[in-house]
Amino acid sequence: MDEPPALTSQDLTHLRRCLDLAREAFADGDEPFGSVLVDPHGAVLHEDRNRTAGGDQTRHPELELARWAAARLAPEVRPDCTVYTSGEHCPMCAAGHAWVGLGRIVYAGSTAQLTEWRHGWGLSPGPVAPLPINAVAPGLPVAGPAHELAEELQELHRQYADRAASS
Ligand code: ZN
Repeated sequence: MDEPPALTSQDLTHLRRCLDLAREAFADGDEPFGSVLVDPHGAVLHEDRNRTAGGDQTRHPELELARWAAARLAPEVRPDCTVYTSGEHCPMCAAGHAWVGLGRIVYAGSTAQLTEWRHGWGLSPGPVAPLPINAVAPGLPVAGPAHELAEELQELHRQYADRAASS
């Protein structure tokens, strides 16, 4: 297997912000996921976090960022923007990201990791196949997971699993 490309310190800074947003989501009763949209110069354009607790399971931050980009960014700017996210895009969000023409994706935790963790904690698999981004959007440049953040991320998702089990 090829070594994944190394993440830069700027990548890690944005991913840490995603983890903060994921913690904010968890504290508010939502699932622990957060994402930021960054322009070609590295400036944060928009950020959001999971908002599914209200009953709409499509309120993923990655889809929200794709729709935000579609509404506000010129099509020729979007491929040079990067989306950072605490957990790899699901197929719905990968498709939204690709349809609006956004560029690189950097994630802290991969879908494969999250699927394995959740299975280990006895959580039932979701209704959508746990495909990697490139199985849905083959042309997208993708980087991750961030091994530097794995422990922190796993702990946050373990807390979510504990809460889900006791509710
Ligand atoms: Zn999603």
